[in-house]
Parts: sequence; C-alpha cells; structure tokens
Amino acid sequence: MRLTIIGGGITGLSAAYYASRTNSYSQITLLEADSRWGGKIATERIPFDGGYFIVEGGPDTFLATKPWGVALCKELGLSERLHGTNPHKKNTYVLHKGRLLPLPDGLAMMIPSDVPSILRSRLLSWTGKARMGLDFILPAKNVNGDESLGTFISRRLGREAYENLIEPLMSGIYAGDGDQLSLASTFPYLRDLELKYGSLARGALKMRQQSNGKMPGSRSAFLTPTTGLAEIVEALVESLKSKVNLRLNARVISVTRDLERGTWNLQLDTDSLITDSLILATPAHVSGRILASFDPELASALQSIPYASTATVSLAYRLSDLPRDLDGYGYVIPRREGRKALACTWTSTKFPHRAPEGYALIRVFIGRAGQPLTPCPSPTGRWVGVRENRDESDLLAIAKEELRLTLGITAEPLLSRVFLWENAMPQYNLGHPELLKRIDAALEKYPSLALAGNGYRGIGIPDCIRSGELAVKKITESRGVENSLAPTPTAL
Ligand SMILES: Cc1cc2nc3c(=O)[nH]c(=O)nc-3n(C[C@H](O)[C@H](O)[C@H](O)COP(=O)(O)OP(=O)(O)OC[C@H]3O[C@@H](n4cnc5c(N)ncnc54)[C@H](O)[C@@H]3O)c2cc1C
Repeated sequence: MRLTIIGGGITGLSAAYYASRTNSYSQITLLEADSRWGGKIATERIPFDGGYFIVEGGPDTFLATKPWGVALCKELGLSERLHGTNPHKKNTYVLHKGRLLPLPDGLAMMIPSDVPSILRSRLLSWTGKARMGLDFILPAKNVNGDESLGTFISRRLGREAYENLIEPLMSGIYAGDGDQLSLASTFPYLRDLELKYGSLARGALKMRQQSNGKMPGSRSAFLTPTTGLAEIVEALVESLKSKVNLRLNARVISVTRDLERGTWNLQLDTDSLITDSLILATPAHVSGRILASFDPELASALQSIPYASTATVSLAYRLSDLPRDLDGYGYVIPRREGRKALACTWTSTKFPHRAPEGYALIRVFIGRAGQPLTPCPSPTGRWVGVRENRDESDLLAIAKEELRLTLGITAEPLLSRVFLWENAMPQYNLGHPELLKRIDAALEKYPSLALAGNGYRGIGIPDCIRSGELAVKKITESRGVENSLAPTPTAL
C-alpha cells in the first residue's frame, strides 16, 4: 500500500510522521514544491556579536492549550527545549489615536473579565464602558445560524469595545476582517459562553477561575523551541529520513484517478507518480488547482476559501539606540487606526533568548484581509512565499515608518529580514461551515483521498498537526489496514 502526501509544511510533515508510525504502508512519499521543508515555518538563525538573532519569518510560537503541538514535540524529544513567553515583562499595548495604551488586565479567552481594569482603561470612553457592562444583563440572542465575529462582539460588548479592543487581538490571529469572519469557524466557544452563562464576561471569568489562571499541563500559554520553530521541522525530517521517501523541488501539477486500478496518478513538473492513497496538505486554493481536472465541484469549493497575503519584517537594534524600554510583548493596531501594519512584536522581550545580550529584535506584521499588501511587488513581481533580504523594499520602509511613528525609533536597524507570504492566511468567512460540508460530502466518494492543512478547521500549528494526523487516520481506516495510531485527542 503506497501513500503519497503533497506539501511539506508542518501539516504534511506531521501526516508523514503519523503515517510512518502505523507500519501500514509499503511506501510513503512526501512531495514538496520548494527547496526546503517547513512551508510557513521559516526560521533564520543569524550569528551576531557572539550570539544569535533568531528570526521567525512566519509563525513564532504555538498555543500550548491545544495539545497536539506539545504532544508532537514530546514525541520528537523536544519537550525540554520548549520555552514559554517571558513572565517578567508581560505588557501588551494597543495603538489608540497614535499612542500606546496598555491592554486591560484579566483578558480571559480574549474577553476582558476584570471590571476595575476596564474601568481604568483609556482605550474606551465612558459610554463604551457602560455599553460593555450591558453584557451582564443582555439575554442570549436567538440566532438562526452563524454570524460574523464583528456582529457578535458588537451586540454583546458594543462596537467601541469591538473596534478598540477585540478586533485588533483577533485579527492578529487571522489577519482577517472581523465583520466577515465566521464566529462558528473561528471562536465558537464565545457563542457557547453566551448560551451557557448569558454573558461573555461572566463566562470568561468562570473559565479563568476553573483553570486557576493557568493553562493545564504547560508553563505558558505559548511555547517555542530554543532556536526557533524550525527545530520541530528539523526533528520531523530527521525522524522521517529512514522511513519516508522525502522529495524536495517536487511540484505537483495535477491529480487524476485510474478507476480500473483504483490508484491516483500524480503529474509533477518533472515526472509522474502512481499511488494508492493520497493526502493533500497544501493550502486549499492549491489543492483546488491540483484537483481541478479530476473533480471540478470539489475544486471549486476548495478555491472558494479566500486567503489573505501578509508579510513580516524583523529588525534588530542596539538596546541603547531605542528611545523607550520594550517592556512587554508588543502592540496590536486596530484597523481604525489606518496604519499599514497590523501588529508589532517585541520579540527579544517576549522570548529573550532570541537576541544577543544588549540587542533588541522587533517584528512588524503587515497586511490583512481588505487591506492588501499591494502596491509592494517583490522584485520578481510575484507574491510568492519567498524569503529575501530587501533592504530597499517598500515593506521595510513601512516597518521602519511604523517604528518611528509609534516607538520613536530613528536609528538604522543593524539588520533586517523581510518575509512575504502570498495567499497565506485562510479566511474562515461567513459561509465557511457550509463550504466544509460541501467539501466533506465530495470527499465521501474517495475513501483513499484526504485533505489537511490550515484552510479548514484551524489555522494554528497545533491544528495543522492534528489535521495531518486525522487525514492519516481517515486514509488508514478506509483501507481497512491495521491502525496503530494513538487515539484522536479531543478538542479543548
Ligand atoms: C506570518 C505568519 C505568522 C503566523 N503566526 C503563527 C503563530 O505564531 N502561531 C501559529 O500557530 N500559527 C501561525 N501562523 C499560521 C501557521 O503558520 C500556518 O497555518 C501553518 O504553518 C500552515 O502549515 P501547512 O503545512 O498547513 O501549510 P504550509 O506551511 O503553507 O505548507 C504547505 C506546503 O505545500 C507546498 N506546496 C504548495 N504547492 C505545492 C505543490 N503544487 N506541490 C507540492 N508542494 C506544494 C508549499 O511549498 C508548502 O511548503 C502564521 C502564519 C503566517 C503566514
């Protein structure tokens, strides 16, 4: 039994890992179009002044409360290398009318639950605060079906709280537009809190008390390996080397089905390949393209999932060149501020080991849904997920301008790295649950085909790992082969 997996990001690598553990396949092949493994996980370790800058071009940490990331790291022997965020300087700021104001304390599940701290906050007017208080008395609304995140938060906490507080936090995760994002597909637990407790703040407070302020089984809610997330990719590749046929520079163009033999025919840009089972661990729009000639209906559903393009710009400075102390994890920028940047992470405060002593590393996140990156074409004119050092680029200029305006930084950075990610962030917009139903229904016809990745049921690294594992489970069970996978973890 041959299994082929397309896409060597964290999803495809995880799928290959879990497939190799089943001992069910005579041959496992992992095909990656790029010349390196990891997809959006792109760590650069830059030697500097006797130490290193650890620059993350894509994700920089993963959530510990979703267990699949921690579990995989444990299996790969990385547990001891996982660091939490700096517990000593935990401030997070919100840009408000051009100034940084602290986020109120007591955020639980992204919902403010500490009333005195809200009352003290300058992020909201007194009218906005009073409107937030209505959350305690407004009855749960009888909503027929889904609603947008923006509508939901606005009707519970008021529009001001949504725009000044919640939107920037949430759009930092999806680079999305909250007025388009589906509540059911992004933060379904918020609706559960409303239904169960009749109030978001009361529900969030309850959940916080139950967990006693701590995330179960971990030191911090966010974790990352010592020298960057690439450690996970490297450990996966190392463990797969002897068991899986690993092929870089192998772009799949199309897939067709041989009905007589019950096999899948893959057309690559250089050769072709036949396999019994197939997992597509590529972004949904790519999977749609690959499947277009074989099942246009499935392909069209996949291509209906929109993706936003984003970029990160990392800049290094001498601490002595900074006009202010970077006393926290950074700041988020509400859409209404009209800035080109979405957020700014003070990386070397959040994870102190990511910069040599005496230096600061800052990362500016640019681009979000409805606020495209253009006009900032890369030299090749394509928004491919390329990594390149473009000191003269528009993106670098945007990042430097953001740091000048908000932090007063005028010094030239000692080094900078620009990462462009075209169509990288899936947008689980209104209608996403229906799209998933269409996709699932179409897949029922093909027991030996599975889809995995960030386009469907979770964008974070732990979700991607889990989706890779579930794809293997589906394929393995459907072929009636013995499945020795660990039991599927339940969602939190
Ligand atoms: C800037 C940024 C910051 C983020 N921050 C975080 C964070 O802090 N924490 C977090 O948990 N998540 C974060 N995310 C989300 C997370 O990084 C992604 O959802 C996740 O890495 C996606 O993994 P994947 O394997 O599904 O897809 P990808 O990483 O996109 O991998 C897909 C792979 O398929 C390959 N491929 C494409 N087409 C073909 C083809 N035709 N043939 C063969 N191979 C092909 C690609 O080259 C790629 O390697 C962030 C994402 C971005 C872009």
